[in-house]
Amino acid sequence: MEAERTNPYTFRLPKPNYLPHITNEPIVEEVFKPLDRPSELENAAYRNKAKRTMQELGITTPKGYDVSFHYNPEMERHHFGQTHPMKPWRLTLTKGLVTAYGMHYTMKNYTARAATYDELTSFHTSDYVDFLATVAPQPTPLDLDGTNSDLKFNLGGSDCPLFEGLYNYCSLSGGASLDAARKLCTKQSDIAIAWGGGLHHAKRSEASGFCYVNDIVIAILQLLRVHKRVLYIDIDVHHGDGVEEAFFSTDRVMTVSFHKYDPMNFFPGTGALEDNGPKSEHNPGAHHAINVPLNDGITDEQYKWLFENVISRCVEKFKPEAIVLQCGADSLAGDRLGKFNLLVQGHGSCVEYCKGLGLPMIIVGGGGYTPKNVARAWAYETAIATNNQSNVAATAEIPLHTPYRKNFEYDSVLLPSIEQILGDARQNRNTQKRLQEIIQHVTEQLRFVSAAPSVQCSIIPPDLGGIRDDVERRIKEEFDERNEEGRKDKEEGVGVPMEH
Ligand SMILES: [Zn+2]
Repeated sequence: MEAERTNPYTFRLPKPNYLPHITNEPIVEEVFKPLDRPSELENAAYRNKAKRTMQELGITTPKGYDVSFHYNPEMERHHFGQTHPMKPWRLTLTKGLVTAYGMHYTMKNYTARAATYDELTSFHTSDYVDFLATVAPQPTPLDLDGTNSDLKFNLGGSDCPLFEGLYNYCSLSGGASLDAARKLCTKQSDIAIAWGGGLHHAKRSEASGFCYVNDIVIAILQLLRVHKRVLYIDIDVHHGDGVEEAFFSTDRVMTVSFHKYDPMNFFPGTGALEDNGPKSEHNPGAHHAINVPLNDGITDEQYKWLFENVISRCVEKFKPEAIVLQCGADSLAGDRLGKFNLLVQGHGSCVEYCKGLGLPMIIVGGGGYTPKNVARAWAYETAIATNNQSNVAATAEIPLHTPYRKNFEYDSVLLPSIEQILGDARQNRNTQKRLQEIIQHVTEQLRFVSAAPSVQCSIIPPDLGGIRDDVERRIKEEFDERNEEGRKDKEEGVGVPMEH
């Protein structure tokens, strides 16, 4: 019973909020503008410049595999609020940089439709989705006085505000990742990119950490219809708790999260090295949650080394048939919330490694609160996916015609150095000894993992209800037990081709 008490979903540590209620930080200048409505002439001129850049840099369509890009520009128009770190505008910057290099000509582009109600409830409860769909926008957060008021579904506070068009935003994010999953399932794509997805904290019926709808879970549920085992990898600076929790009791999904871990001070407080899924060996999900807790200041070299050592072992034992890679960009140096020393190249090395595994893969976004760096990372990772990374890096500066170019700063280089970003690097609090211990612990966990799935077949939809009910029951039992003791406390993805 002692082991049961350490289950992160039984006892939730006090959750530090992402947002201080009173902040001395200067209000981030809003660069949000309604999308420009360029004339046909302006569009044609932009396309010509992008094509010329593409030809000059030798950017080409990947050979032997297809990359697809799933995106709906409607997402960018949403606004979490003036002081909120989440800026959908970072997607505008990313799209601008991707198209400035002409990389959209190297991929299949789909304007993803919004996920439907039924698609959202493949994971979320109808109560929760109904509320999201009908609740009125709330211009002022309901927890401004600092007290944790009883927020319904954790909605309306400063972390997860009820902004105008919220349901639209959520269903567009869900729609893009789901479309990506469907293109993988039908083999129309080998690497599907959805930068508007990656909202890993959302729970079945609770918003959390700027995330309302868990597009990743919805996409993985779709992948499970045709893939026996899916490996989920999360390189956001925060623990991928929502995805881990959703697949807690199944051996068909292995979740691996690399994150900063400081339970009392850093959100969400879960994801210790020793948390590896259900403690009971009878539960198929046991040992299928891998957590890599890190400290501030980790460098590209350490991160790459650790990532490759951990992921190679997971792939060898678990033998996934598909990968979902969450590329939260708040793990980059200079992030407004994250405190690592990762450069765009180090972050991108994870994408490069995963691509090298040759498995069908979805790449989603996630966190990332310094928009200029988010756009750099995701554009560079789009280049990695299409095998154009050395081409985009051939010239230091981003193309002159890049939209909103002045917002990129750092002398407009694509790959800024740590000095350009931070002046001095943050102190690195990760020792090589600790990283070795992590690899050792992961290796031990993986001894218990066998690649034989508990379900036999490939084309049968997973018994989602079964997975969820089991988790719910466990949480309830553990909750009851704790109280008793009284003292302890995812018509198919019809993306339509985007116009070039
Ligand atoms: Zn994050």
